[in-house]
Amino acid sequence: MKERLNAVGCVPMRAFLLVLLTFCVPRTDARAEIALRVTRPEEGELLTIAKGKTFVIGVVTPPTAALECNGARCDVSADGAFIGYAPFAAAPSPVRQGTNWCDVAFDFVLRANGEEIARRVWAISPNSPSAALVPEQAFDPPRTVRVLKEAWLGIRRGAIGRTLFAPKDALLSAVSTGTNGWRVRLEGREEAVVPLDLAEIVDEAPGRSRAWIIEDREGMQVTARRLGGDETEISSLSSCFWGMGFAVDGLRARILPRPMPKALVRREAAEHPLRGMRIGLDPGHHPDRGAVGPRGLEERDANLRLAREVGRLLRAEGAEVVFTREEEALPLRERHARLRELDPEIVVSLHHNSVGDNADPRAKHGAQTFWYHPWSKDLAEKIHAAMLRALGSADLGCHRRDLYLPRYPGCPTVLLEPEYLILPEMEAAFLDAARRAKLAAAIVEGMRAFAATRRGMAESAF
Ligand SMILES: [Zn+2]
Repeated sequence: MKERLNAVGCVPMRAFLLVLLTFCVPRTDARAEIALRVTRPEEGELLTIAKGKTFVIGVVTPPTAALECNGARCDVSADGAFIGYAPFAAAPSPVRQGTNWCDVAFDFVLRANGEEIARRVWAISPNSPSAALVPEQAFDPPRTVRVLKEAWLGIRRGAIGRTLFAPKDALLSAVSTGTNGWRVRLEGREEAVVPLDLAEIVDEAPGRSRAWIIEDREGMQVTARRLGGDETEISSLSSCFWGMGFAVDGLRARILPRPMPKALVRREAAEHPLRGMRIGLDPGHHPDRGAVGPRGLEERDANLRLAREVGRLLRAEGAEVVFTREEEALPLRERHARLRELDPEIVVSLHHNSVGDNADPRAKHGAQTFWYHPWSKDLAEKIHAAMLRALGSADLGCHRRDLYLPRYPGCPTVLLEPEYLILPEMEAAFLDAARRAKLAAAIVEGMRAFAATRRGMAESAF
């Protein structure tokens, strides 16, 4: 090929012929080859359960191929992306694969054009020595841990709407430790888990606690009571209420209600409710990848792309947009602190869904939205409704859930899961620019509707 081109003297003509040859000459590899790329499980991936079933995804060539994993048929879409729900059983003893001890095998068999490819992918169950899980270790008597960084923590076994506020240097009583963190005893049966890197063991008695239990009550009322003490602070919140801060001084504390954003009170806000508002967008994940689609689209990238589209639309509305992260990684546990620095007036965290091990992903698709504090509920409902209208997605509900990001109390804060990225058709839908633009527009429409409603409520209260 190269010699023939050299025979043609003129450079533009050679370039022209090269282009012509590249695009027009029938390619010798047109004979469909048969190939298998597995995206999940990855070789040596840690799966959360040791037996049962889990989903497997990837891409095959040609798309007409038949694929099985551990005997279960996988569904292959028109471009070759596949999803299957495969049974697995742990091997009797772990097998050394590179640096990992693997104990779960996935046997793929791909058949096409009278050929067959067999591939085994090894993964790790929590029982494998490579799982690197810290075994739960109980403390009897309990040990004291000191909080290293201010944290708003979820409370286990308590009524929803209760949050533990642990300021820096607060001492808590830990009854055990494990992979998830220090398990600390609160009052009655209530417990909280403090992440391992947020506290350390100290040799002193916890004494009078400096941590507080903050409770969201009916009718936009918030109470705060010192853990193990009588000190109580109650704040009744007006319809202008927009979020809260919390200031601790020794054994005393104050709830700091945040008023409605100034920009929203201005007269022109009636027509352009988002103009001049500072809006925080939180693209979920990174450094972790989050969910991964069959074709390899990582959730952290999808979330950032969507956040940037939403950001562009918000700026066009005259809003100021701030991101918790863009290209640089920001671990989940540092995102509250970042939000406090950025001080946005609305926060939307963008995610794309996956399912846990042992759930059939093919049975699940649709949009889900999460909120936690009562002052975030209306924002969640408005965005959720707008997403369903725009995309015609199945409605998986708008739920109150005690998740880390929505626990941020400073302003209305919600977390969106518009679709399941692991489904071949949903990964393809995300890659469709027109559909993504529709989704971004719906998210902004929901914010606009929320801001307009809150402004109207406040006006009628004057
Ligand atoms: Zn996510």
